[in-house]
Amino acid sequence: MPGIRMAVSAGKPNRVCGSCTLCCRLVPVEGLGKAAGQRCRYQGHRGCKVYATLNQVSPECRLWSCRWLVDLHARELHRPDRVHYVIDIMPDFVGAADPGGGEPVNVPVMQVWADPAYPDAWRRDAALRRYMITMAGERGEATLVRLGNRSGLVIFPPNMMADGEWCEKTAGPSSGAWRNPLDDIRDAAGISPERDSMTSDEARARIHARGRAILSALKGD
Ligand code: SF4
Ligand code: SF4
Repeated sequence: MPGIRMAVSAGKPNRVCGSCTLCCRLVPVEGLGKAAGQRCRYQGHRGCKVYATLNQVSPECRLWSCRWLVDLHARELHRPDRVHYVIDIMPDFVGAADPGGGEPVNVPVMQVWADPAYPDAWRRDAALRRYMITMAGERGEATLVRLGNRSGLVIFPPNMMADGEWCEKTAGPSSGAWRNPLDDIRDAAGISPERDSMTSDEARARIHARGRAILSALKGD
């Protein structure tokens, strides 16, 4: 889903998508009815077949970029197709249940879409671990490694934990302890669980506003 094919400005990464098209398969595009992990019908051998008319066909794709492409902090990372995961420019939130029975806390998370064909590739990437620590420190984001639309792992780097250790929790409706609060909105609305969690207009607007702010900051607008 390469909205920005090239990100060039002073002090910013000078990167291009090149032959990478991984986001066009791993990341869901609601406006196209494309689920996570599903190859986009507009993907061609040489990239997006509708790139010239993307504003009309899929404005979401025009807005979106992966963080490898535009984030200065991501300069140590490798191109997504070489490490088999895509870091979403859009953050999400997970609900952390209070074992004491209090209100759940919403935690912002950086979304890492892992390629199901290489489910553990992200684990072997030390540069990604360092990026997680940086994002926790700079933006207060934990990490949600998404394995499709409905399951994943929430990872808290040591700098977010009182004991200074990495912490990993299963995320998803079946885990009990961890639940995306947007799932509650979706369930209340009776929306199909196959769809991505960002289904409420209000929730989408909130998340996209934050995503736009981050994208704008990264681009130096
Ligand atoms: S429309 Fe083009 S840019 Fe968007 S997901 Fe499909 S192939 Fe990728
Ligand atoms: S994952 Fe990133 S580098 Fe690869 S095509 Fe998408 S935007 Fe470009």
